[in-house]
Amino acid sequence: MRHVSIFNIILTVIVLFASSACEKPSESSPATERPTSSAANKESAHALPGVQPGSHDDWCGEHQVPESLCTRCNPSLIAAFKATGDWCAEHGLPESQCLICNPNLKIERPPSSGEASP
Ligand SMILES: [Zn+2]
Ligand SMILES: [Zn+2]
Repeated sequence: MRHVSIFNIILTVIVLFASSACEKPSESSPATERPTSSAANKESAHALPGVQPGSHDDWCGEHQVPESLCTRCNPSLIAAFKATGDWCAEHGLPESQCLICNPNLKIERPPSSGEASP
């Protein structure tokens, strides 16, 4: 009956080793990413969906134009600009947003909605 106890010791050692090895990675794994932080970064660069066109929130920080008029973010707008003749084919931008053809052009962000009168 002695060999049974030896098996028990070996089994115990294996279990202890396995459990200690399993503990380590679970403790040091900050892989859980908070979705709120990435959403905040997106908010600063681009307008959120559903904002009122022409409002302060309707602004593309990446391209410095109103988000509702940003053809680089919304390529589907290109056809509308072309239809109104407001299109610079050379630079692939609305003429009213083409700073290459109009270096003096300044597209200013609308004031904050809190101050705007209805
Ligand atoms: Zn944009
Ligand atoms: Zn141009």
